[in-house]
Formats: sequence, C-alpha cells, structure tokens
Amino acid sequence: MTPESNQPGVSRETQRRSVGGMRFPGGASDGAQTETTASEGIGWSPVVQEGRKTTDALHSDAAQLPRPDRRRIMTVANQKGGVGKTTSTVNLAAALAVQGLNVLVVDLDPQGNASTALGVEHQSGVPSVYELLLGNVGVSDVAARSAQSERLDCVPATIDLAGAEVELVTMVAREARLREALTPEVLDELDYDYVLIDCPPSLGLLTVNALVAAHEVVIPIQCEYYALEGLGQLLNNIELVQSHLNPNLGISTVLLTMYDGRTKLAEQVTAEVRGYFGERALRTVIPRSVKISEAPGYGQTILGYDPGSRGSMSYLDAAREIAERGTERETA
Ligand code: ATP
Ligand code: MG
Repeated sequence: MTPESNQPGVSRETQRRSVGGMRFPGGASDGAQTETTASEGIGWSPVVQEGRKTTDALHSDAAQLPRPDRRRIMTVANQKGGVGKTTSTVNLAAALAVQGLNVLVVDLDPQGNASTALGVEHQSGVPSVYELLLGNVGVSDVAARSAQSERLDCVPATIDLAGAEVELVTMVAREARLREALTPEVLDELDYDYVLIDCPPSLGLLTVNALVAAHEVVIPIQCEYYALEGLGQLLNNIELVQSHLNPNLGISTVLLTMYDGRTKLAEQVTAEVRGYFGERALRTVIPRSVKISEAPGYGQTILGYDPGSRGSMSYLDAAREIAERGTERETA
C-alpha cells in the first residue's frame, strides 16, 4: 500500500477494477444497476431502478477522508438480533468508499443481508465467504464489486454458510480460518483501506472467526429497552478472544442506532452507553428512519437510495468520525 496511490484519480481504480472473478454488467461506473434475477439469494430480489446515478457520483462533492496509517479490519458484532449490525456495516462501508477510501465488506452471516444491501449476487453456488473459510479460494476469487461504488467490494455470503458453523468444528485452526484468508499480503495487493466484517446474531464460530481476524470491534447498540442486555456476554467473548487468540483486538467503536430523539428512552440509553464506553461511543448517532430500512429493498445503501437524507448524513458523519479517530485502539 503506497500513500501516493491515495491521490484522487490515480490509477488505483484501474488497478482494482480487475479484482474479483464476478462483475456485474455495467458495474458501478456507468450507473447501471445490478441485473439480479428472481432466483437471487434466499428467494429475494432487489428492485432494479434504471438510469440512477452511482452512489459515488451522488456524493462526488464529499470531502475525502484520510487513509489510515495501516489497514483497519473492523468486526461489527452484537449477538443480539436486529440491532443494526448489517445496516451499519453496509452504510459505513459505503460512506467510507464515497469519501475516497477502498473498502471490503465481508458478509459473514448466512442470511446474506449485507450482500443484498450492496447489490451483490449471493444465491447458492456463487463463490462466497464459505469457500474462503474452507481455504479453497482467495479473496480476489470471491470479492465482487458492489454496484454501489467503484471503491467498494463485498465477499458475499450464501446460504451455504449456514452449514459452516458445524463444519468448522472439526477443522484445523477453526477459529482462525478467516484471518488466514485475510492476510496482509493479499489485502495489500487488493489495496483495501478498511475491511468491515458483518457478523450473524450469535457468538458462535463465525463470530469468533471475525473477532480473530480483526483489529477492532464495532458494537452497534439499538436505542431500545434492554439495549445493554446480553452485552456482558459479548464483552466476555471479546476478552476471551483477546487473551487466547488475538491480543491485538480492541473495542474501538460503539454506534448508537435507531435513535429517536423524541423519546426519553433514547436519551437514557445514550447516557448509559456513554457512561460505560466513554469516548468509544461515537458522537454521531444514527436516527431511526424509514428510508434507512427501505434502502436494502432496492439493493442499495441509504447513501445511494436517499443521499441527502438524515440517515445518509449520519452514516457519512459516523464514517468521518471513525476515519479521523485513526487507529487509536483501546481494550475492552
Ligand atoms: P441480524 O441480527 O438479524 O443480523 P442486524 O443486527 O444486522 O440484524 P439490521 O438487519 O441491520 O440488524 O437491522 C434490523 C432491522 O432494522 C432491519 O429491518 C433494518 O432495515 C432496520 N433498521 C436498521 N437501522 C435502522 C434505522 N436507523 N432506522 C430504521 N430502521 C432501521
Ligand atoms: Mg445482520
């Protein structure tokens, strides 16, 4: 990774365009949308909109973010379901990408929601994170360019991943399969500044693999009743991984999601989270917004779906905060 290659418009894009075996017709560069068929994924297909600008083009006036001194690998984890892990992964990734950084999303959830939101094919049989964990393929064989941005790739998850948790149990170095696939050499060659890993809502082997592969944990917390319930279990697991498998791991970022400023509850949860996590809780909070929840239905992030919306702005702000904080790491 050379700092020179961060200059706007330098050939990094050209170099990266060949990454991955799968490209969508038209790709991100000409505004064409993903040509997804009804057989896509687990019976789901995004609505195709024609003639839309790419997310990069929609945010072409966005200020560029600094590249990190060294690549940041961030695992987005919370074993609680529906707290905004996937939404935060894909929107932060898109926000980093439209602000000039090269980003890889690794979808580590058999639900494949991150792949859907990024408009990346993930029907059974598509080369995916499953084959990556088995060690049969490399990142460049499975990373697909997202239709959202020229600087955003995604290793999709297919339903095949559902069996992986069981299959991994008998494998050598079962907790480190993802780390072995995401070697610095491979990621240097592909020139990613950020790698964001979207975890399933469990603390099983897939999440452990994500924690072992990462430098940082990002914990999304929904501003709701019982927001902090179960968090102790996540923190224990992070500590276990730190002490046995990955001493470099730290909780760097806590992101409050689905914030509704009209409620006292949101305020209370925010105060509690800030009290516990201090500076690690981002100043930016993500508002509850229907637009944010609608975007994946169009195979888009909120940045592409409604670029000027509060949701879009909040993810741009959160990404900026993360990038500007640099690689400062604290332990759990
Ligand atoms: P899972 O544990 O199933 O993987 P998750 O933690 O990844 O879930 P998401 O899928 O990101 O959570 O979000 C859960 C639901 O909440 C989704 O329907 C999503 O569209 C919606 N959602 C997420 N963030 C927001 C928001 N800021 N405003 C409104 N709806 C949101
Ligand atoms: Mg999810």
